Amino acid sequence: MSALQWCWVAVTVTTIIFLMVAAISALPKMKAAYTACIAVIFLAASGITAFGSISPLLPAAAGSVPAALALAPAPGVPLHSDASAGRVVLTFDDGPDFYTAQVIAELDELHLHGVFFDIGSKAAAHPELVHAEIASGNVVGNHTWDHKSFTGKGVGVTNKPLTQAQVRAELSGTDAAIVSAGAPKPVLWRPPYGAVNAADEQTATSLGLRIVLDSGTNIIDSNDWAGLTAAQIAARVDPRLRDGTIIAFHDGLRTAPQMIAALPLIVAYMNAHHLGVTTTVRPDATGGVVPDDNTGTGGHA
Ligand SMILES: [Zn+2]
Repeated sequence: MSALQWCWVAVTVTTIIFLMVAAISALPKMKAAYTACIAVIFLAASGITAFGSISPLLPAAAGSVPAALALAPAPGVPLHSDASAGRVVLTFDDGPDFYTAQVIAELDELHLHGVFFDIGSKAAAHPELVHAEIASGNVVGNHTWDHKSFTGKGVGVTNKPLTQAQVRAELSGTDAAIVSAGAPKPVLWRPPYGAVNAADEQTATSLGLRIVLDSGTNIIDSNDWAGLTAAQIAARVDPRLRDGTIIAFHDGLRTAPQMIAALPLIVAYMNAHHLGVTTTVRPDATGGVVPDDNTGTGGHA
């Protein structure tokens, strides 16, 4: 109830008490006492009303948040483009991990969908996150079991080149973890560090997996792993966006908050330039021919 409503309740109760006391005692000062009570009630009510006008500035108890505080920070404008200039593919690597739920929530907020290239061991540890990725309309791809470099090459890589038996185990184990989390069997995979040779790709193809590199002619590494700010990530990605572009982000790294903050900025650019999103990777948009011994260009860990 408002302060005014409480005031009228108090007036009613006071009046009833006054009438009852007056009926049995008829004290001559009762009228003055009654007037004083009513005055106090109205003064109290006006004080409560004045306090109420500043109360949104005070900490609020859970469940009674004033309307002014209940508003979330200004959200980004969701994607509403007509996609007349084409569609891009957003991809997210190295999860599912600590920030993955937040990434999914932001994608939902902005009306986006993407392809999550999950690491098998993480998918096995957090099947609920794999399920959440799918439940929000995203696609799950294969990013190997433990993010080893298949060729032994890549920035910071220490492992030796994997045998084809090991490559097969890396990919099939990851497929199994993703499927057991309730997601469809992946049809796309991304080699860690972009490190892959023709034999690796042949093995992947035999498992029904199509390669999507993390950089290339039509694939943008957002460099979100490199400690860029949200504005820097958006400035790097935006001018490269066109129909068929694939963008590589990372939901599984500690740099994810800046990437999440960049998404509304990138969506604003897409809205202004009539670009939409899709999770369908075109056959000619996967990075092209894989060289025999790719040196591993990916810079993320
Ligand atoms: Zn990766």
